[in-house]
Amino acid sequence: MTGRFDGRTALVTGGGRGIGAATAIRLAAEGATVVISDVDLEPAEAVAAQIRSQGRPALAVACDVTDRAAVEALVTRAVSDYGGLDILVTCAGVLRDNLIHKMTDTDWDMVVDTHLKGTFLCAQAAQRAMVAARRGKMVFLSSNSALGNRGQANYSAAKAGIQGMARTLAIELGPFNINVNAIAPGFIETRMTQAVAQRTGIDYEDLKRVAAERTPLRRIGRPEDIAGIIGFLCSDDASFVTGQTIYATGGP
Ligand code: NDP
Repeated sequence: MTGRFDGRTALVTGGGRGIGAATAIRLAAEGATVVISDVDLEPAEAVAAQIRSQGRPALAVACDVTDRAAVEALVTRAVSDYGGLDILVTCAGVLRDNLIHKMTDTDWDMVVDTHLKGTFLCAQAAQRAMVAARRGKMVFLSSNSALGNRGQANYSAAKAGIQGMARTLAIELGPFNINVNAIAPGFIETRMTQAVAQRTGIDYEDLKRVAAERTPLRRIGRPEDIAGIIGFLCSDDASFVTGQTIYATGGP
């Protein structure tokens, strides 16, 4: 059976957990050779092992996306091991929520560096290989919080910035047949939302129930919901879609 991503190499940052892990598994299931990177090797290796157990090639690499040298080495490794890089999905992320009067420089820098600078560094390294090949797909993880969310001045600013970066790179890289889009999920069940429950002292089951009740589709999202949209954006079916942000929130 042929898959949508046969012969394509994909790099997924933050691929050891949550949305990134579901994306790596989905792309691999449809034929991609996947490089899974995460700040720690262990979760990335677990996802790679799961993909290999299904008969697909997968490589796990530890990489902190805020570290230029590490990101460049990661992309170089993907290109040298697999002969190119066709797909980049940036899922690496952290939260350091706080109200503005309590937010420290450390909270700000960590979140903005991981999301905004991390996306920039990965996109910059990836575009070299993609421009040379005259083809590529990039999908950046933004968030519904880009529209504003109490306690998330750092995260909201970074996620809104990512949408602007996607639009700008779509303009710059479009002439090289490279599509750049963003996805802005709502509440997705991952360690990130578990951490929100822990920090606020709300029981996670209660947090999920309330979020589901407020959502028109009456449920919260699963990582696989987002992986499916990423798959579409990385596929040839989306070849005329670029510079867009798709909100996937279970509602308008
Ligand atoms: P997870 O916490 O499950 O996964 C994120 C992964 O990124 C973790 O493995 C984390 O490692 C890793 N990571 C953190 N910092 C770095 C770094 N500097 N370099 C490389 N990897 C790093 O989160 P989600 O799957 O929920 O989130 C994926 C993306 O989707 C994020 O960008 C997030 O902001 C976005 N998103 C998530 C939503 C949700 O409701 N879950 C909603 C909207 C957007 P570690 O666990 O060790 O920190």
